[in-house]
Amino acid sequence: MAFKDVGARFMSRSLTYLDDSSKDITVLVATSGDTGGAVASGFWKVPGVKVVILFPSGKVSEIQEKQLTTFDENVKAIEVEGTFDDCQSMVRKAFLDSDFSSLNLTSANSINVARWLPQMFYYFFAYKQLKNKDKDFVFSVPSGNFGNICAGIVSKRLGLPVQKFVASTNLNDTVPNYLDTGIYTPKPSKATISNAMDVGNPSNFPRIQRLFQDSLALLKKEFVSYSFDDNQTREALKTLFHKYDYIADPHGAVAYLGAERFREKSPDTDVIFLETAHPSKFLNVVEDTLNIKIKIPSQILSVLNRASSKQKISTYDDFKSSLLL
Ligand SMILES: *Cc1c(COP(=O)(O)O)cnc(C)c1O
Repeated sequence: MAFKDVGARFMSRSLTYLDDSSKDITVLVATSGDTGGAVASGFWKVPGVKVVILFPSGKVSEIQEKQLTTFDENVKAIEVEGTFDDCQSMVRKAFLDSDFSSLNLTSANSINVARWLPQMFYYFFAYKQLKNKDKDFVFSVPSGNFGNICAGIVSKRLGLPVQKFVASTNLNDTVPNYLDTGIYTPKPSKATISNAMDVGNPSNFPRIQRLFQDSLALLKKEFVSYSFDDNQTREALKTLFHKYDYIADPHGAVAYLGAERFREKSPDTDVIFLETAHPSKFLNVVEDTLNIKIKIPSQILSVLNRASSKQKISTYDDFKSSLLL
């Protein structure tokens, strides 16, 4: 029910296909919401792979929590007292920790390119559906860890004739600020209604800089970025619903805002904005904002009825003992 599912599944199948060691692999993943569910279902019952998911306590939606805590067997969910960035830094630290060297650790976050390379498909698929292929067009991508937009940029390098990328963010505006000021200042993440993008230090942004030879001037030729708050996001949800009869989720709504902002200056350019999740994953926000009831798809209903299991921790040492158990 989110775009990450395709990438996670591709990665899980590639891992078992390509890994020729007889040792089990442990996949570590930090999630601000959606990644966990995608990875849990993508890796569920994959032989030779254990999955450990870290998520920030109280900061994922009810359905998201169900999606990441109900896959037993080889998938373990750890609830962290803290933010997404705390989860992500525990994961980063674990990779450098020699106490884990026996575990054969790998990452299923988008720091692992196997997660987002298959997402290039989306950009070509969207292009295929453009009615007028002679007109300039850009993509507006709702961005958190900037993996999806990386896939877009690599698609362009592979020949997709897109002009530019609009990185649309919520209040976590590290990248838009960088484009404005030239100074890159990662910040602690702020909680928003588009929580899968609550990232203060996007792990793929250094890759984007490298793709543009670490030159801000080169980057700016093909890349713009805007930030929007929750009120604007709610207004966008309403506009999409009332004007176009389309129920977006809050992340897609942020991308729509980026598309509209871009069109203010370039009205002759077509903008494709990416919708990244089914609105039922953000049920409370969408139903409250639009004053409607959303039909929950059967895939989600089946998860809601399953028993969840999780373990609560607060420090890196807790995490370590739980992992080395
Ligand atoms: C993860 C996610 C995003 C952001 O994608 P990144 O690759 O991290 O930039 C946007 N929308 C939804 C619904 C997501 O789950």
